[in-house]
Amino acid sequence: MSDSSFIPPAKPEIGEAEIEAAVRVLRSGMVVQGPEVKGFEEEFSAFVGGVHCVAVNSGTSALHLGLLAMGIGPGDEVLVPSFSFAASANAIRLVGADPVFVDIDPASYCIDPAAAAAAVTERTRAVMPVHLYGHPADMTAIGELAATHDLAVIEDAAQAHGAVWDGRPVGSFGRTAAFSFYPTKNMHSLEGGMVSTADAETARMLRLLRNQGMEQRYANEVVGANMRLTDVAAAIGRVQLAKLAGWNEQRRTNAARLDAGLAELDGVVAPPVAAEATHVYHQYTVRILDGHRDAVQQQLQQAGVGSAVYYPTPIHRLRPFLPDAHPHNRDWDLPATEQAAAEVLSLPVHPALSEAEVDRVVAAVADALEAVRR
Ligand SMILES: *Cc1c(COP(=O)(O)O)cnc(C)c1O
Repeated sequence: MSDSSFIPPAKPEIGEAEIEAAVRVLRSGMVVQGPEVKGFEEEFSAFVGGVHCVAVNSGTSALHLGLLAMGIGPGDEVLVPSFSFAASANAIRLVGADPVFVDIDPASYCIDPAAAAAAVTERTRAVMPVHLYGHPADMTAIGELAATHDLAVIEDAAQAHGAVWDGRPVGSFGRTAAFSFYPTKNMHSLEGGMVSTADAETARMLRLLRNQGMEQRYANEVVGANMRLTDVAAAIGRVQLAKLAGWNEQRRTNAARLDAGLAELDGVVAPPVAAEATHVYHQYTVRILDGHRDAVQQQLQQAGVGSAVYYPTPIHRLRPFLPDAHPHNRDWDLPATEQAAAEVLSLPVHPALSEAEVDRVVAAVADALEAVRR
């Protein structure tokens, strides 16, 4: 490609292997909740340390089912960071519970365990750490918090397939964990999700809730939804899962090259990684200091380098979560969240980048910083 071609911020892969897998399933006629879904669940289970895995139709459904399986509902509070995708809090509201927004650790962008502890009340039932951008939350501290206050942990691992905290894969810590296979995630199945749980009873409940409350047809045991995954999606997911470890390694290689290039520059802060963490760089998110973020993003766009802001508006400032939108909504004081929302910028880090393209990203950031500071 020429040096001036646009570098997109994400590049979902739909290759020949994915297309062949989809066609093979369509020709087989076994298209829903069949052998591909079962195979995908087994292979994903191996990937998250052998826990039970239940495939569903989205990451949002995976969060929703986890909350339903624990019977969390009206009157219950769930601790959740506001600095996340709206799905995290939407799932809590969808079961009728109240999201209690907690500030982040400014280093990891994940939930601040001390702030979470300070937000516990007698109504708190669960805590939902989000492994944002592919960096795991501090699951040691979250585990201690949960044990002290008898809370369920629901991991939002939608951005963190393959991330590790202290030697354990994310998705193996919580009572349940939710993964997303939306196209821009580290792996995809067009749309899709997975719930993981170490608990066999919870796994059985998740399977019931996914399928109208039935294990045997018309022998309904509980009220359930239809959140099933198609076999076409599962077959694509299996092809992608086989490539995930290599892709994550390539993301880390790209991130290391970005780190080295950006270290020379003033006005930009590269993403730190905790000593216990293996980051999978769903996003490579820097801070642009001194109020220059939006101007730098515009300069990058003109230089042919795509970038994105996740998230310009924290969840607590989105319309459904404003104080007047629901009787249990409140005002929140989340300074680290507000600062991150104003400063963060995600640069291309996806595995399709060449070394030359990574170097072009660094050079474009250097030029942009110089331009906006003149
Ligand atoms: C993508 C995402 C979700 C939702 O996943 P979908 O598959 O899009 O429903 C939930 N939480 C976070 C943090 C996400 O990034």
